[in-house]
Amino acid sequence: MKILRSILLFSLLLSLLAPNLTFAFDGQVLMEKQVKQGNAFEVKIPKNEYLSINGSFMEQPVKFFEFEDEANWDDPVSRGVFLDTVIDNKEDLPRLVFENPYLDIDKDDKYYREILLATQLGIVKGNYVDYVRLFKPNTSVTRAEAAKMLYQAYNLTSLKREMEATDPEKYETLSNQTFPDLTKNHPLYFYMMECVKAGIFKGYDDGLIRPNAPINYNETEIIVARATGKDKIAVDMDKDTEYYRALVGVDRRWEPGTYYLNLKLENEDGEMEYYTEPIEVLNTEFITQSFRTSADDGEEDKTYLLYDGSQDRAYEKLYEAVATTNDSRYYEEDFQIPAEGYTTLGFGDILYINGIYSGSHSGIDYANETGTDIYASNTGKVVLAEFTDFWGNMVVIDHGENLFSVYIHLDELKCEVDDKVKKGELIGLMGTTGFSTGSHLHYSVMVGTTFVDPAQFYEEAK
Ligand SMILES: [Zn+2]
Repeated sequence: MKILRSILLFSLLLSLLAPNLTFAFDGQVLMEKQVKQGNAFEVKIPKNEYLSINGSFMEQPVKFFEFEDEANWDDPVSRGVFLDTVIDNKEDLPRLVFENPYLDIDKDDKYYREILLATQLGIVKGNYVDYVRLFKPNTSVTRAEAAKMLYQAYNLTSLKREMEATDPEKYETLSNQTFPDLTKNHPLYFYMMECVKAGIFKGYDDGLIRPNAPINYNETEIIVARATGKDKIAVDMDKDTEYYRALVGVDRRWEPGTYYLNLKLENEDGEMEYYTEPIEVLNTEFITQSFRTSADDGEEDKTYLLYDGSQDRAYEKLYEAVATTNDSRYYEEDFQIPAEGYTTLGFGDILYINGIYSGSHSGIDYANETGTDIYASNTGKVVLAEFTDFWGNMVVIDHGENLFSVYIHLDELKCEVDDKVKKGELIGLMGTTGFSTGSHLHYSVMVGTTFVDPAQFYEEAK
């Protein structure tokens, strides 16, 4: 049996376009979030007084886990922290005479004074939701929203004039800069460009400026320093340390569009609160791959495995293995590529086998000689290690908090169920067992029962 197909190197560039989608939530936030087909996003909700939380997305349960964390420099900042930084670094602050207009803010709030001062100064206005004015202090801030707040807070015109006078060439260059992901249609285009001209936002190495990405602590420090002309400014990193956290997978086959994450939280009085978060699913360009199977090279033709129920039985095993998960993470850092080899099929590739549509590829295929070492892509616990007719020898590792990695078609298993494996530890040897055409590893990553792009978890993707 032989596959005739072109070898394609899977591009990691696609995943560069998908920044981490961590967002904070205060029980009142309704904000637009974007994620690409076949990617996963993380939901972080400050635990506050909530006793429990449940969620669902596209009728699939979203599993939340409790964890404690300190703020990291690459975590998104909340509106409260961002405004606190802006106000603390603003000179000639007026006396606070503004009355609190927000239903979700009271005198005990950590940034009460800063939020009201920022409102008095016209830096923020809050949001009207059902005729009620809310501030949403724990919501994250996008880079474009940050640009607008800086524009309202500081005198960027004088910053620009100063640069024009001292370095006209630089001013000219900055003024003429453009970004493919920031068009004139963007509602905050003007503010973002004013910040670019003033040298506050500079764009990333890949030429993008990511106006809709959440701004993190590190960037907050840098842009406020630039906007104020200070060498060093302080950002308050003393935030809530207890969270509920969930990974949510977006199926690669869902049509782009708006989907809703439903949340059900139990408050301290034992009452249920319900919230809905719209998530915008963006298109991913998947590749079409056509190939034929044939028995002309002496190998056994296993095409029958597509039609004899083997596939269903293998899926049953797999779903059983991912039905339960450890309630804390075994993994900490980025995932590693599990085997050396050529990438012959990428995640989401649209497959035509012998001219018949045969689904969308659920992982990445790494092809190499039989016997090539296969390593655990991250630390976890083996929850399945056995032979199935369709996928041959397979391994499933639970990395905790509903994230799994799957290794299929192995020649030999080198681990057993319940083994704790470290990232990079040998778990098997490459082969072509099950419905396979030539020695390769099929590698998948799953959030619960949803397959997501494994490349999203590699270091190169960030
Ligand atoms: Zn595959």
